[in-house]
Amino acid sequence: MLQRVNPGNKSLADYRSIIRRPLYDEIVELAGRLDGARVLHVNATSFGGGVAEILYTLVPLMRDVGLEAEWGVMFGAEPFFNVTKGFHNALQGADYELTVEARAIYEEYNRQSAAALVEAGEEWDVVLVHDPQPALLRHFTEGLSEKTKWIWRCHIDTSTPNPQVLDYLLPYILEYDAQIYTLEEYTPPDVKLPGLTIIPPAIDPLSPKNMALAPEDARYIVNQFGVDIERPFIVQVSRFDPWKDPLGVIDVYRAVKEEVPEVQLVLIGSMAHDDPEGWDYWYKTVNYASGDQDIFLFSNLTNVGAIEVNAFQSIADVVIQKSIREGFGLVVAEALWKARPVVASRVGGIPMQITAGGGILIDTIPEAASACVKLLKDPDFAREMGRHGKEHVREHYLIPRQMRDNMRLFAKLLGV
Ligand code: UDP
Repeated sequence: MLQRVNPGNKSLADYRSIIRRPLYDEIVELAGRLDGARVLHVNATSFGGGVAEILYTLVPLMRDVGLEAEWGVMFGAEPFFNVTKGFHNALQGADYELTVEARAIYEEYNRQSAAALVEAGEEWDVVLVHDPQPALLRHFTEGLSEKTKWIWRCHIDTSTPNPQVLDYLLPYILEYDAQIYTLEEYTPPDVKLPGLTIIPPAIDPLSPKNMALAPEDARYIVNQFGVDIERPFIVQVSRFDPWKDPLGVIDVYRAVKEEVPEVQLVLIGSMAHDDPEGWDYWYKTVNYASGDQDIFLFSNLTNVGAIEVNAFQSIADVVIQKSIREGFGLVVAEALWKARPVVASRVGGIPMQITAGGGILIDTIPEAASACVKLLKDPDFAREMGRHGKEHVREHYLIPRQMRDNMRLFAKLLGV
């Protein structure tokens, strides 16, 4: 059997007062139809990354409403992850030379994982396969069950794919009964996916990163990191990566400081021990900040974990997301949910999150700077914006909606 993840316990009832009644009722109604359905989620890792974050909420909530949901992690090791990282970048448009060796490694781990699934002898009504790493599972489990419905969930933007990798993977993806994408625009060009279903991701409003923190607790936490809580601050929470443009954020801050001299900037990014690129970019950012005492850089290695991210996001005067390229941008939904005004680039999934009035879309550094200045100088405007953003997230980007969309698809495929 594949390695099973224990996702802990969550209860849909806890979300009842947060989400709208019709959504809650629809989940309960769908749960009645899907009662006892055996649903297996498969992905490549039980920690790190947005997919794992989502499954830690989705799986226990599905169990809570009566589905027999399980989460299995496929087999993997360094050579496999090197190949799949290459695939991931290639599907997002990077140059890549698909070799016979890479295919052999990729197929071998998928074949072994599929064999483990078949040997376990369990019956599944639905198998939901996340992202390219386990995408061949359906192909290699021919004997599993005629009745099993297979879904492939793509979390990335494949609209400008490297053709070699796409042409290789596409026949396998087409074997699935359904393909879930975050946005229609992320699907591969000129390809008709017969089971295409659009389901954007969502955040868990009750996780430590997003649960309600009292402002005084948030201020108490932020103060301990040396940020002056009596003065305004702008925050960006993102990996240290050129696509997240931390240097551009510093440029924005410098332009803002000319008009609002007391402003501070906080940059928070999680660092992996084994990600040399992340460190390079961290040092680049430190150099670029060139000793400015009002610029703060934090990471998980300086003890900024989920609760601390929550605290900084909760009381920031402006949350900025100056990405050059973005998938969905979960971090934007996190900020909006905390009723913070957001200044963010017009890329990826960001516009759909903030067009309803929760923030200001920008294309350039001067635009970003003037948006920040406006928000810092007009707290009423900022407060109103934050309120709109929160309601938009409540309506569209909280995890019960994603759960409902998944359950609707299960019900359709199973004909119940
Ligand atoms: N994140 C975090 N700590 C950090 C940096 C990022 O917890 O120091 C989280 C962030 O809150 C969000 C996720 O990592 O939940 C990033 O997801 P997003 O979709 O914004 O960007 P990605 O990194 O997947 O491109």
